[in-house]
Amino acid sequence: MTHAAGTELRDISKIETHLHLEGSLTEQRLVALASKHQSSLLEKGPDAAAQLYNFETFTGFLNAYKVCCEHLKTPEDYRQLTAELLQRLADQHCVYAEILFTPSICPRFGLPAREVIEAVLETGREGQPRGIQVRWIFDTVRQWGADPCWQTLEWALQYRDHGVVGLCIGGDEASQPARVFRDVFESAEKAGLHRSAHAGEICDARSVWHAIEELRAERIGHGVHALEDPLLVDYLIRHSLPLEISITSNFRTGAVDKDCVHPILEINRRGIPFTLNSDDPGLFRTSLQREWELAAGILGWFPEQFVELVRRTLRYTFLTEDEREQIRAILGDG
Ligand SMILES: [Zn+2]
Repeated sequence: MTHAAGTELRDISKIETHLHLEGSLTEQRLVALASKHQSSLLEKGPDAAAQLYNFETFTGFLNAYKVCCEHLKTPEDYRQLTAELLQRLADQHCVYAEILFTPSICPRFGLPAREVIEAVLETGREGQPRGIQVRWIFDTVRQWGADPCWQTLEWALQYRDHGVVGLCIGGDEASQPARVFRDVFESAEKAGLHRSAHAGEICDARSVWHAIEELRAERIGHGVHALEDPLLVDYLIRHSLPLEISITSNFRTGAVDKDCVHPILEINRRGIPFTLNSDDPGLFRTSLQREWELAAGILGWFPEQFVELVRRTLRYTFLTEDEREQIRAILGDG
């Protein structure tokens, strides 16, 4: 045997730091929501949802994401989505997750944002008895500009006592420069919120520098293009600034060529800090367990190396040191 088998990885306690609530919507649940809300997706035939989920480009991915969000029409839909995600995380022995949630989608689609936020956060708290603790990072959509980002910051601060720990920017990386959001992220930092940013996913290493310099990002979503810049690689290592790696996501969106070995091999070889994640497990038809199995195949890792990865990942979380200590105890490292 050259690396850990899936069955050996199943029982290891896991942590995830890059996981979108909306992107956790499965194809089956989308079909159920289309039926519940009698949406136009039903008129496109029985394979419409499957076809939507078969995207192979970043544009196709963004379109599928949009259609998923259009089908979340009530706070109850969000409550159910959150509960199902937590159950799947618990089933994979995920003990702690920082989940990205984009509340500015709500007003776009005519939903009452505060009601939805409260439904999501409340359901998140209900995960604890099932062995999964969560914190929330409020994500904002880059192509929508600074105004929804300011609004997102306001919500994040309003609900910070209910498990919101950070602000993130996602969406179309090529659409707006990071400096557009600089003031918002500066305010977030001053208020004591953590920051992360999707960067170096479809754009080059300069985008990662911008996320660090303009947004003061503490973690980089994807960042696979960071490898192109030796100075950046050095910076990430020296500052223990991790890349949030999602293998399936990169292949499905075209961020990484399907015929290439995933850059996680080189990222690991060079000693760049990273975490392993499912990103949008519903849309990518993956899971954290599956991402671990893929990483095991590429890196040739054995179970002990995944246990080490979880320990390192805990250090990169947006928890306080006391809270990390509690998770360490759950992991058996206390
Ligand atoms: Zn993401």
